[in-house]
Amino acid sequence: MSPGADHFARTSASSGTTEELRRSNLARILTLIHRGGALSRAELTRLTGLNRSTIGGLVAELRELGLAFETMPGSGEGNRAGRPSPVVHPSQSVVAIAVNPEVDAIHIGLVALGGRVLKRIRLETEAAPTSREVVEMTRAAIAGLVAGSEQELTIVGIGLAVPGLVRRSDGQVRIADHLDWIDEPLTEMMSAATGHRSVAANAAQLGMRAESLFGAGRGVDDLVYLIGGASGIGGGVVMGGHLLTGADGYAAEFGHTFVTSNGADCTCGSQGCLEAEVTQSELLDAVGLSTAQAELLAGLLEASDDPAVAALVARDVALVRVAVRNAVNLFNPRLIIVGGFLTALFPTGDGLAAEALTTPREELTVALAELGADQLLIGAGELVFSQLLLDPASSMGVELPLVAM
Ligand SMILES: [Zn+2]
Repeated sequence: MSPGADHFARTSASSGTTEELRRSNLARILTLIHRGGALSRAELTRLTGLNRSTIGGLVAELRELGLAFETMPGSGEGNRAGRPSPVVHPSQSVVAIAVNPEVDAIHIGLVALGGRVLKRIRLETEAAPTSREVVEMTRAAIAGLVAGSEQELTIVGIGLAVPGLVRRSDGQVRIADHLDWIDEPLTEMMSAATGHRSVAANAAQLGMRAESLFGAGRGVDDLVYLIGGASGIGGGVVMGGHLLTGADGYAAEFGHTFVTSNGADCTCGSQGCLEAEVTQSELLDAVGLSTAQAELLAGLLEASDDPAVAALVARDVALVRVAVRNAVNLFNPRLIIVGGFLTALFPTGDGLAAEALTTPREELTVALAELGADQLLIGAGELVFSQLLLDPASSMGVELPLVAM
């Protein structure tokens, strides 16, 4: 796959009019530098097959829209004729606000084009935040996030990564068990309170989207992603280059797959679900850590010589393997990406798929998530940027909420 290949954006059909073709080429160039990083005009010419003057015109338009800027390469990086080809970068002043409510905190970040997290904050909450609290705390945090930036920022929207079932059609949060939310019109509330277009999706699916586009899953068309966090275990599946959403957006709930008989009660009403059996809090408690110290978990589990800790880890490892066995046997992925606290159970990824059928395991690789704590914010930002990438000119024309610095 090319560096800018897009698993998720819809391909805009072109009926061949000049205007449609120009819009579609503009989207293509912006997508290439957003997903693939800075590229020279010469590389853009090669990757798109468009001629130099067309590329020049499209880049000029992206610059005028504030979506790209150019630098001259250092010496020795010129093209064959010896003339240096300007390097086109995605703008760092066009940003999305990314929000991830968790059971004990709200994570809010400023994500620039190119998937770069410029700033992130963690606002602790006494208990699981209500949707109203998430909206109010985000609204209050935006000014602080954009303050102090060297350049004027353009906020193109707010992306919400929600640990729960989010309806694909309108972003309605149908159920978020761990937050105790039922049927919350979160995007509607957020848009009304902030004036910014807001979009929401399941947090784990967004984490996968980030890893797939910018992290461990780049260029892989068939992958399964599993992430463990304070709010349980989630996942996502990409098959044949397409995100598996299911009919309404609720697919790939690995946390609620059945892993053991006579198991613990789950928040979903069933028993023996993976996320009822394997929890971050139990592992943190075992080594005396708080949720805010979760990044220390892997090291302390490894260093521990407490037999009770070893027994808990062995039990959790076995249960995660059951879920992964089911995933591999169902989906035949080329790659499994593991993220969050699950990496503390499988520090190298070894043994994760040990119980799956032999044949689909032959070409299977296991990788740890690369984007760390930023992955949900990058995924939430991508939810906003994917709309912009479809039609950059009209997106920037329709919504230009410039924030005074
Ligand atoms: Zn369940």
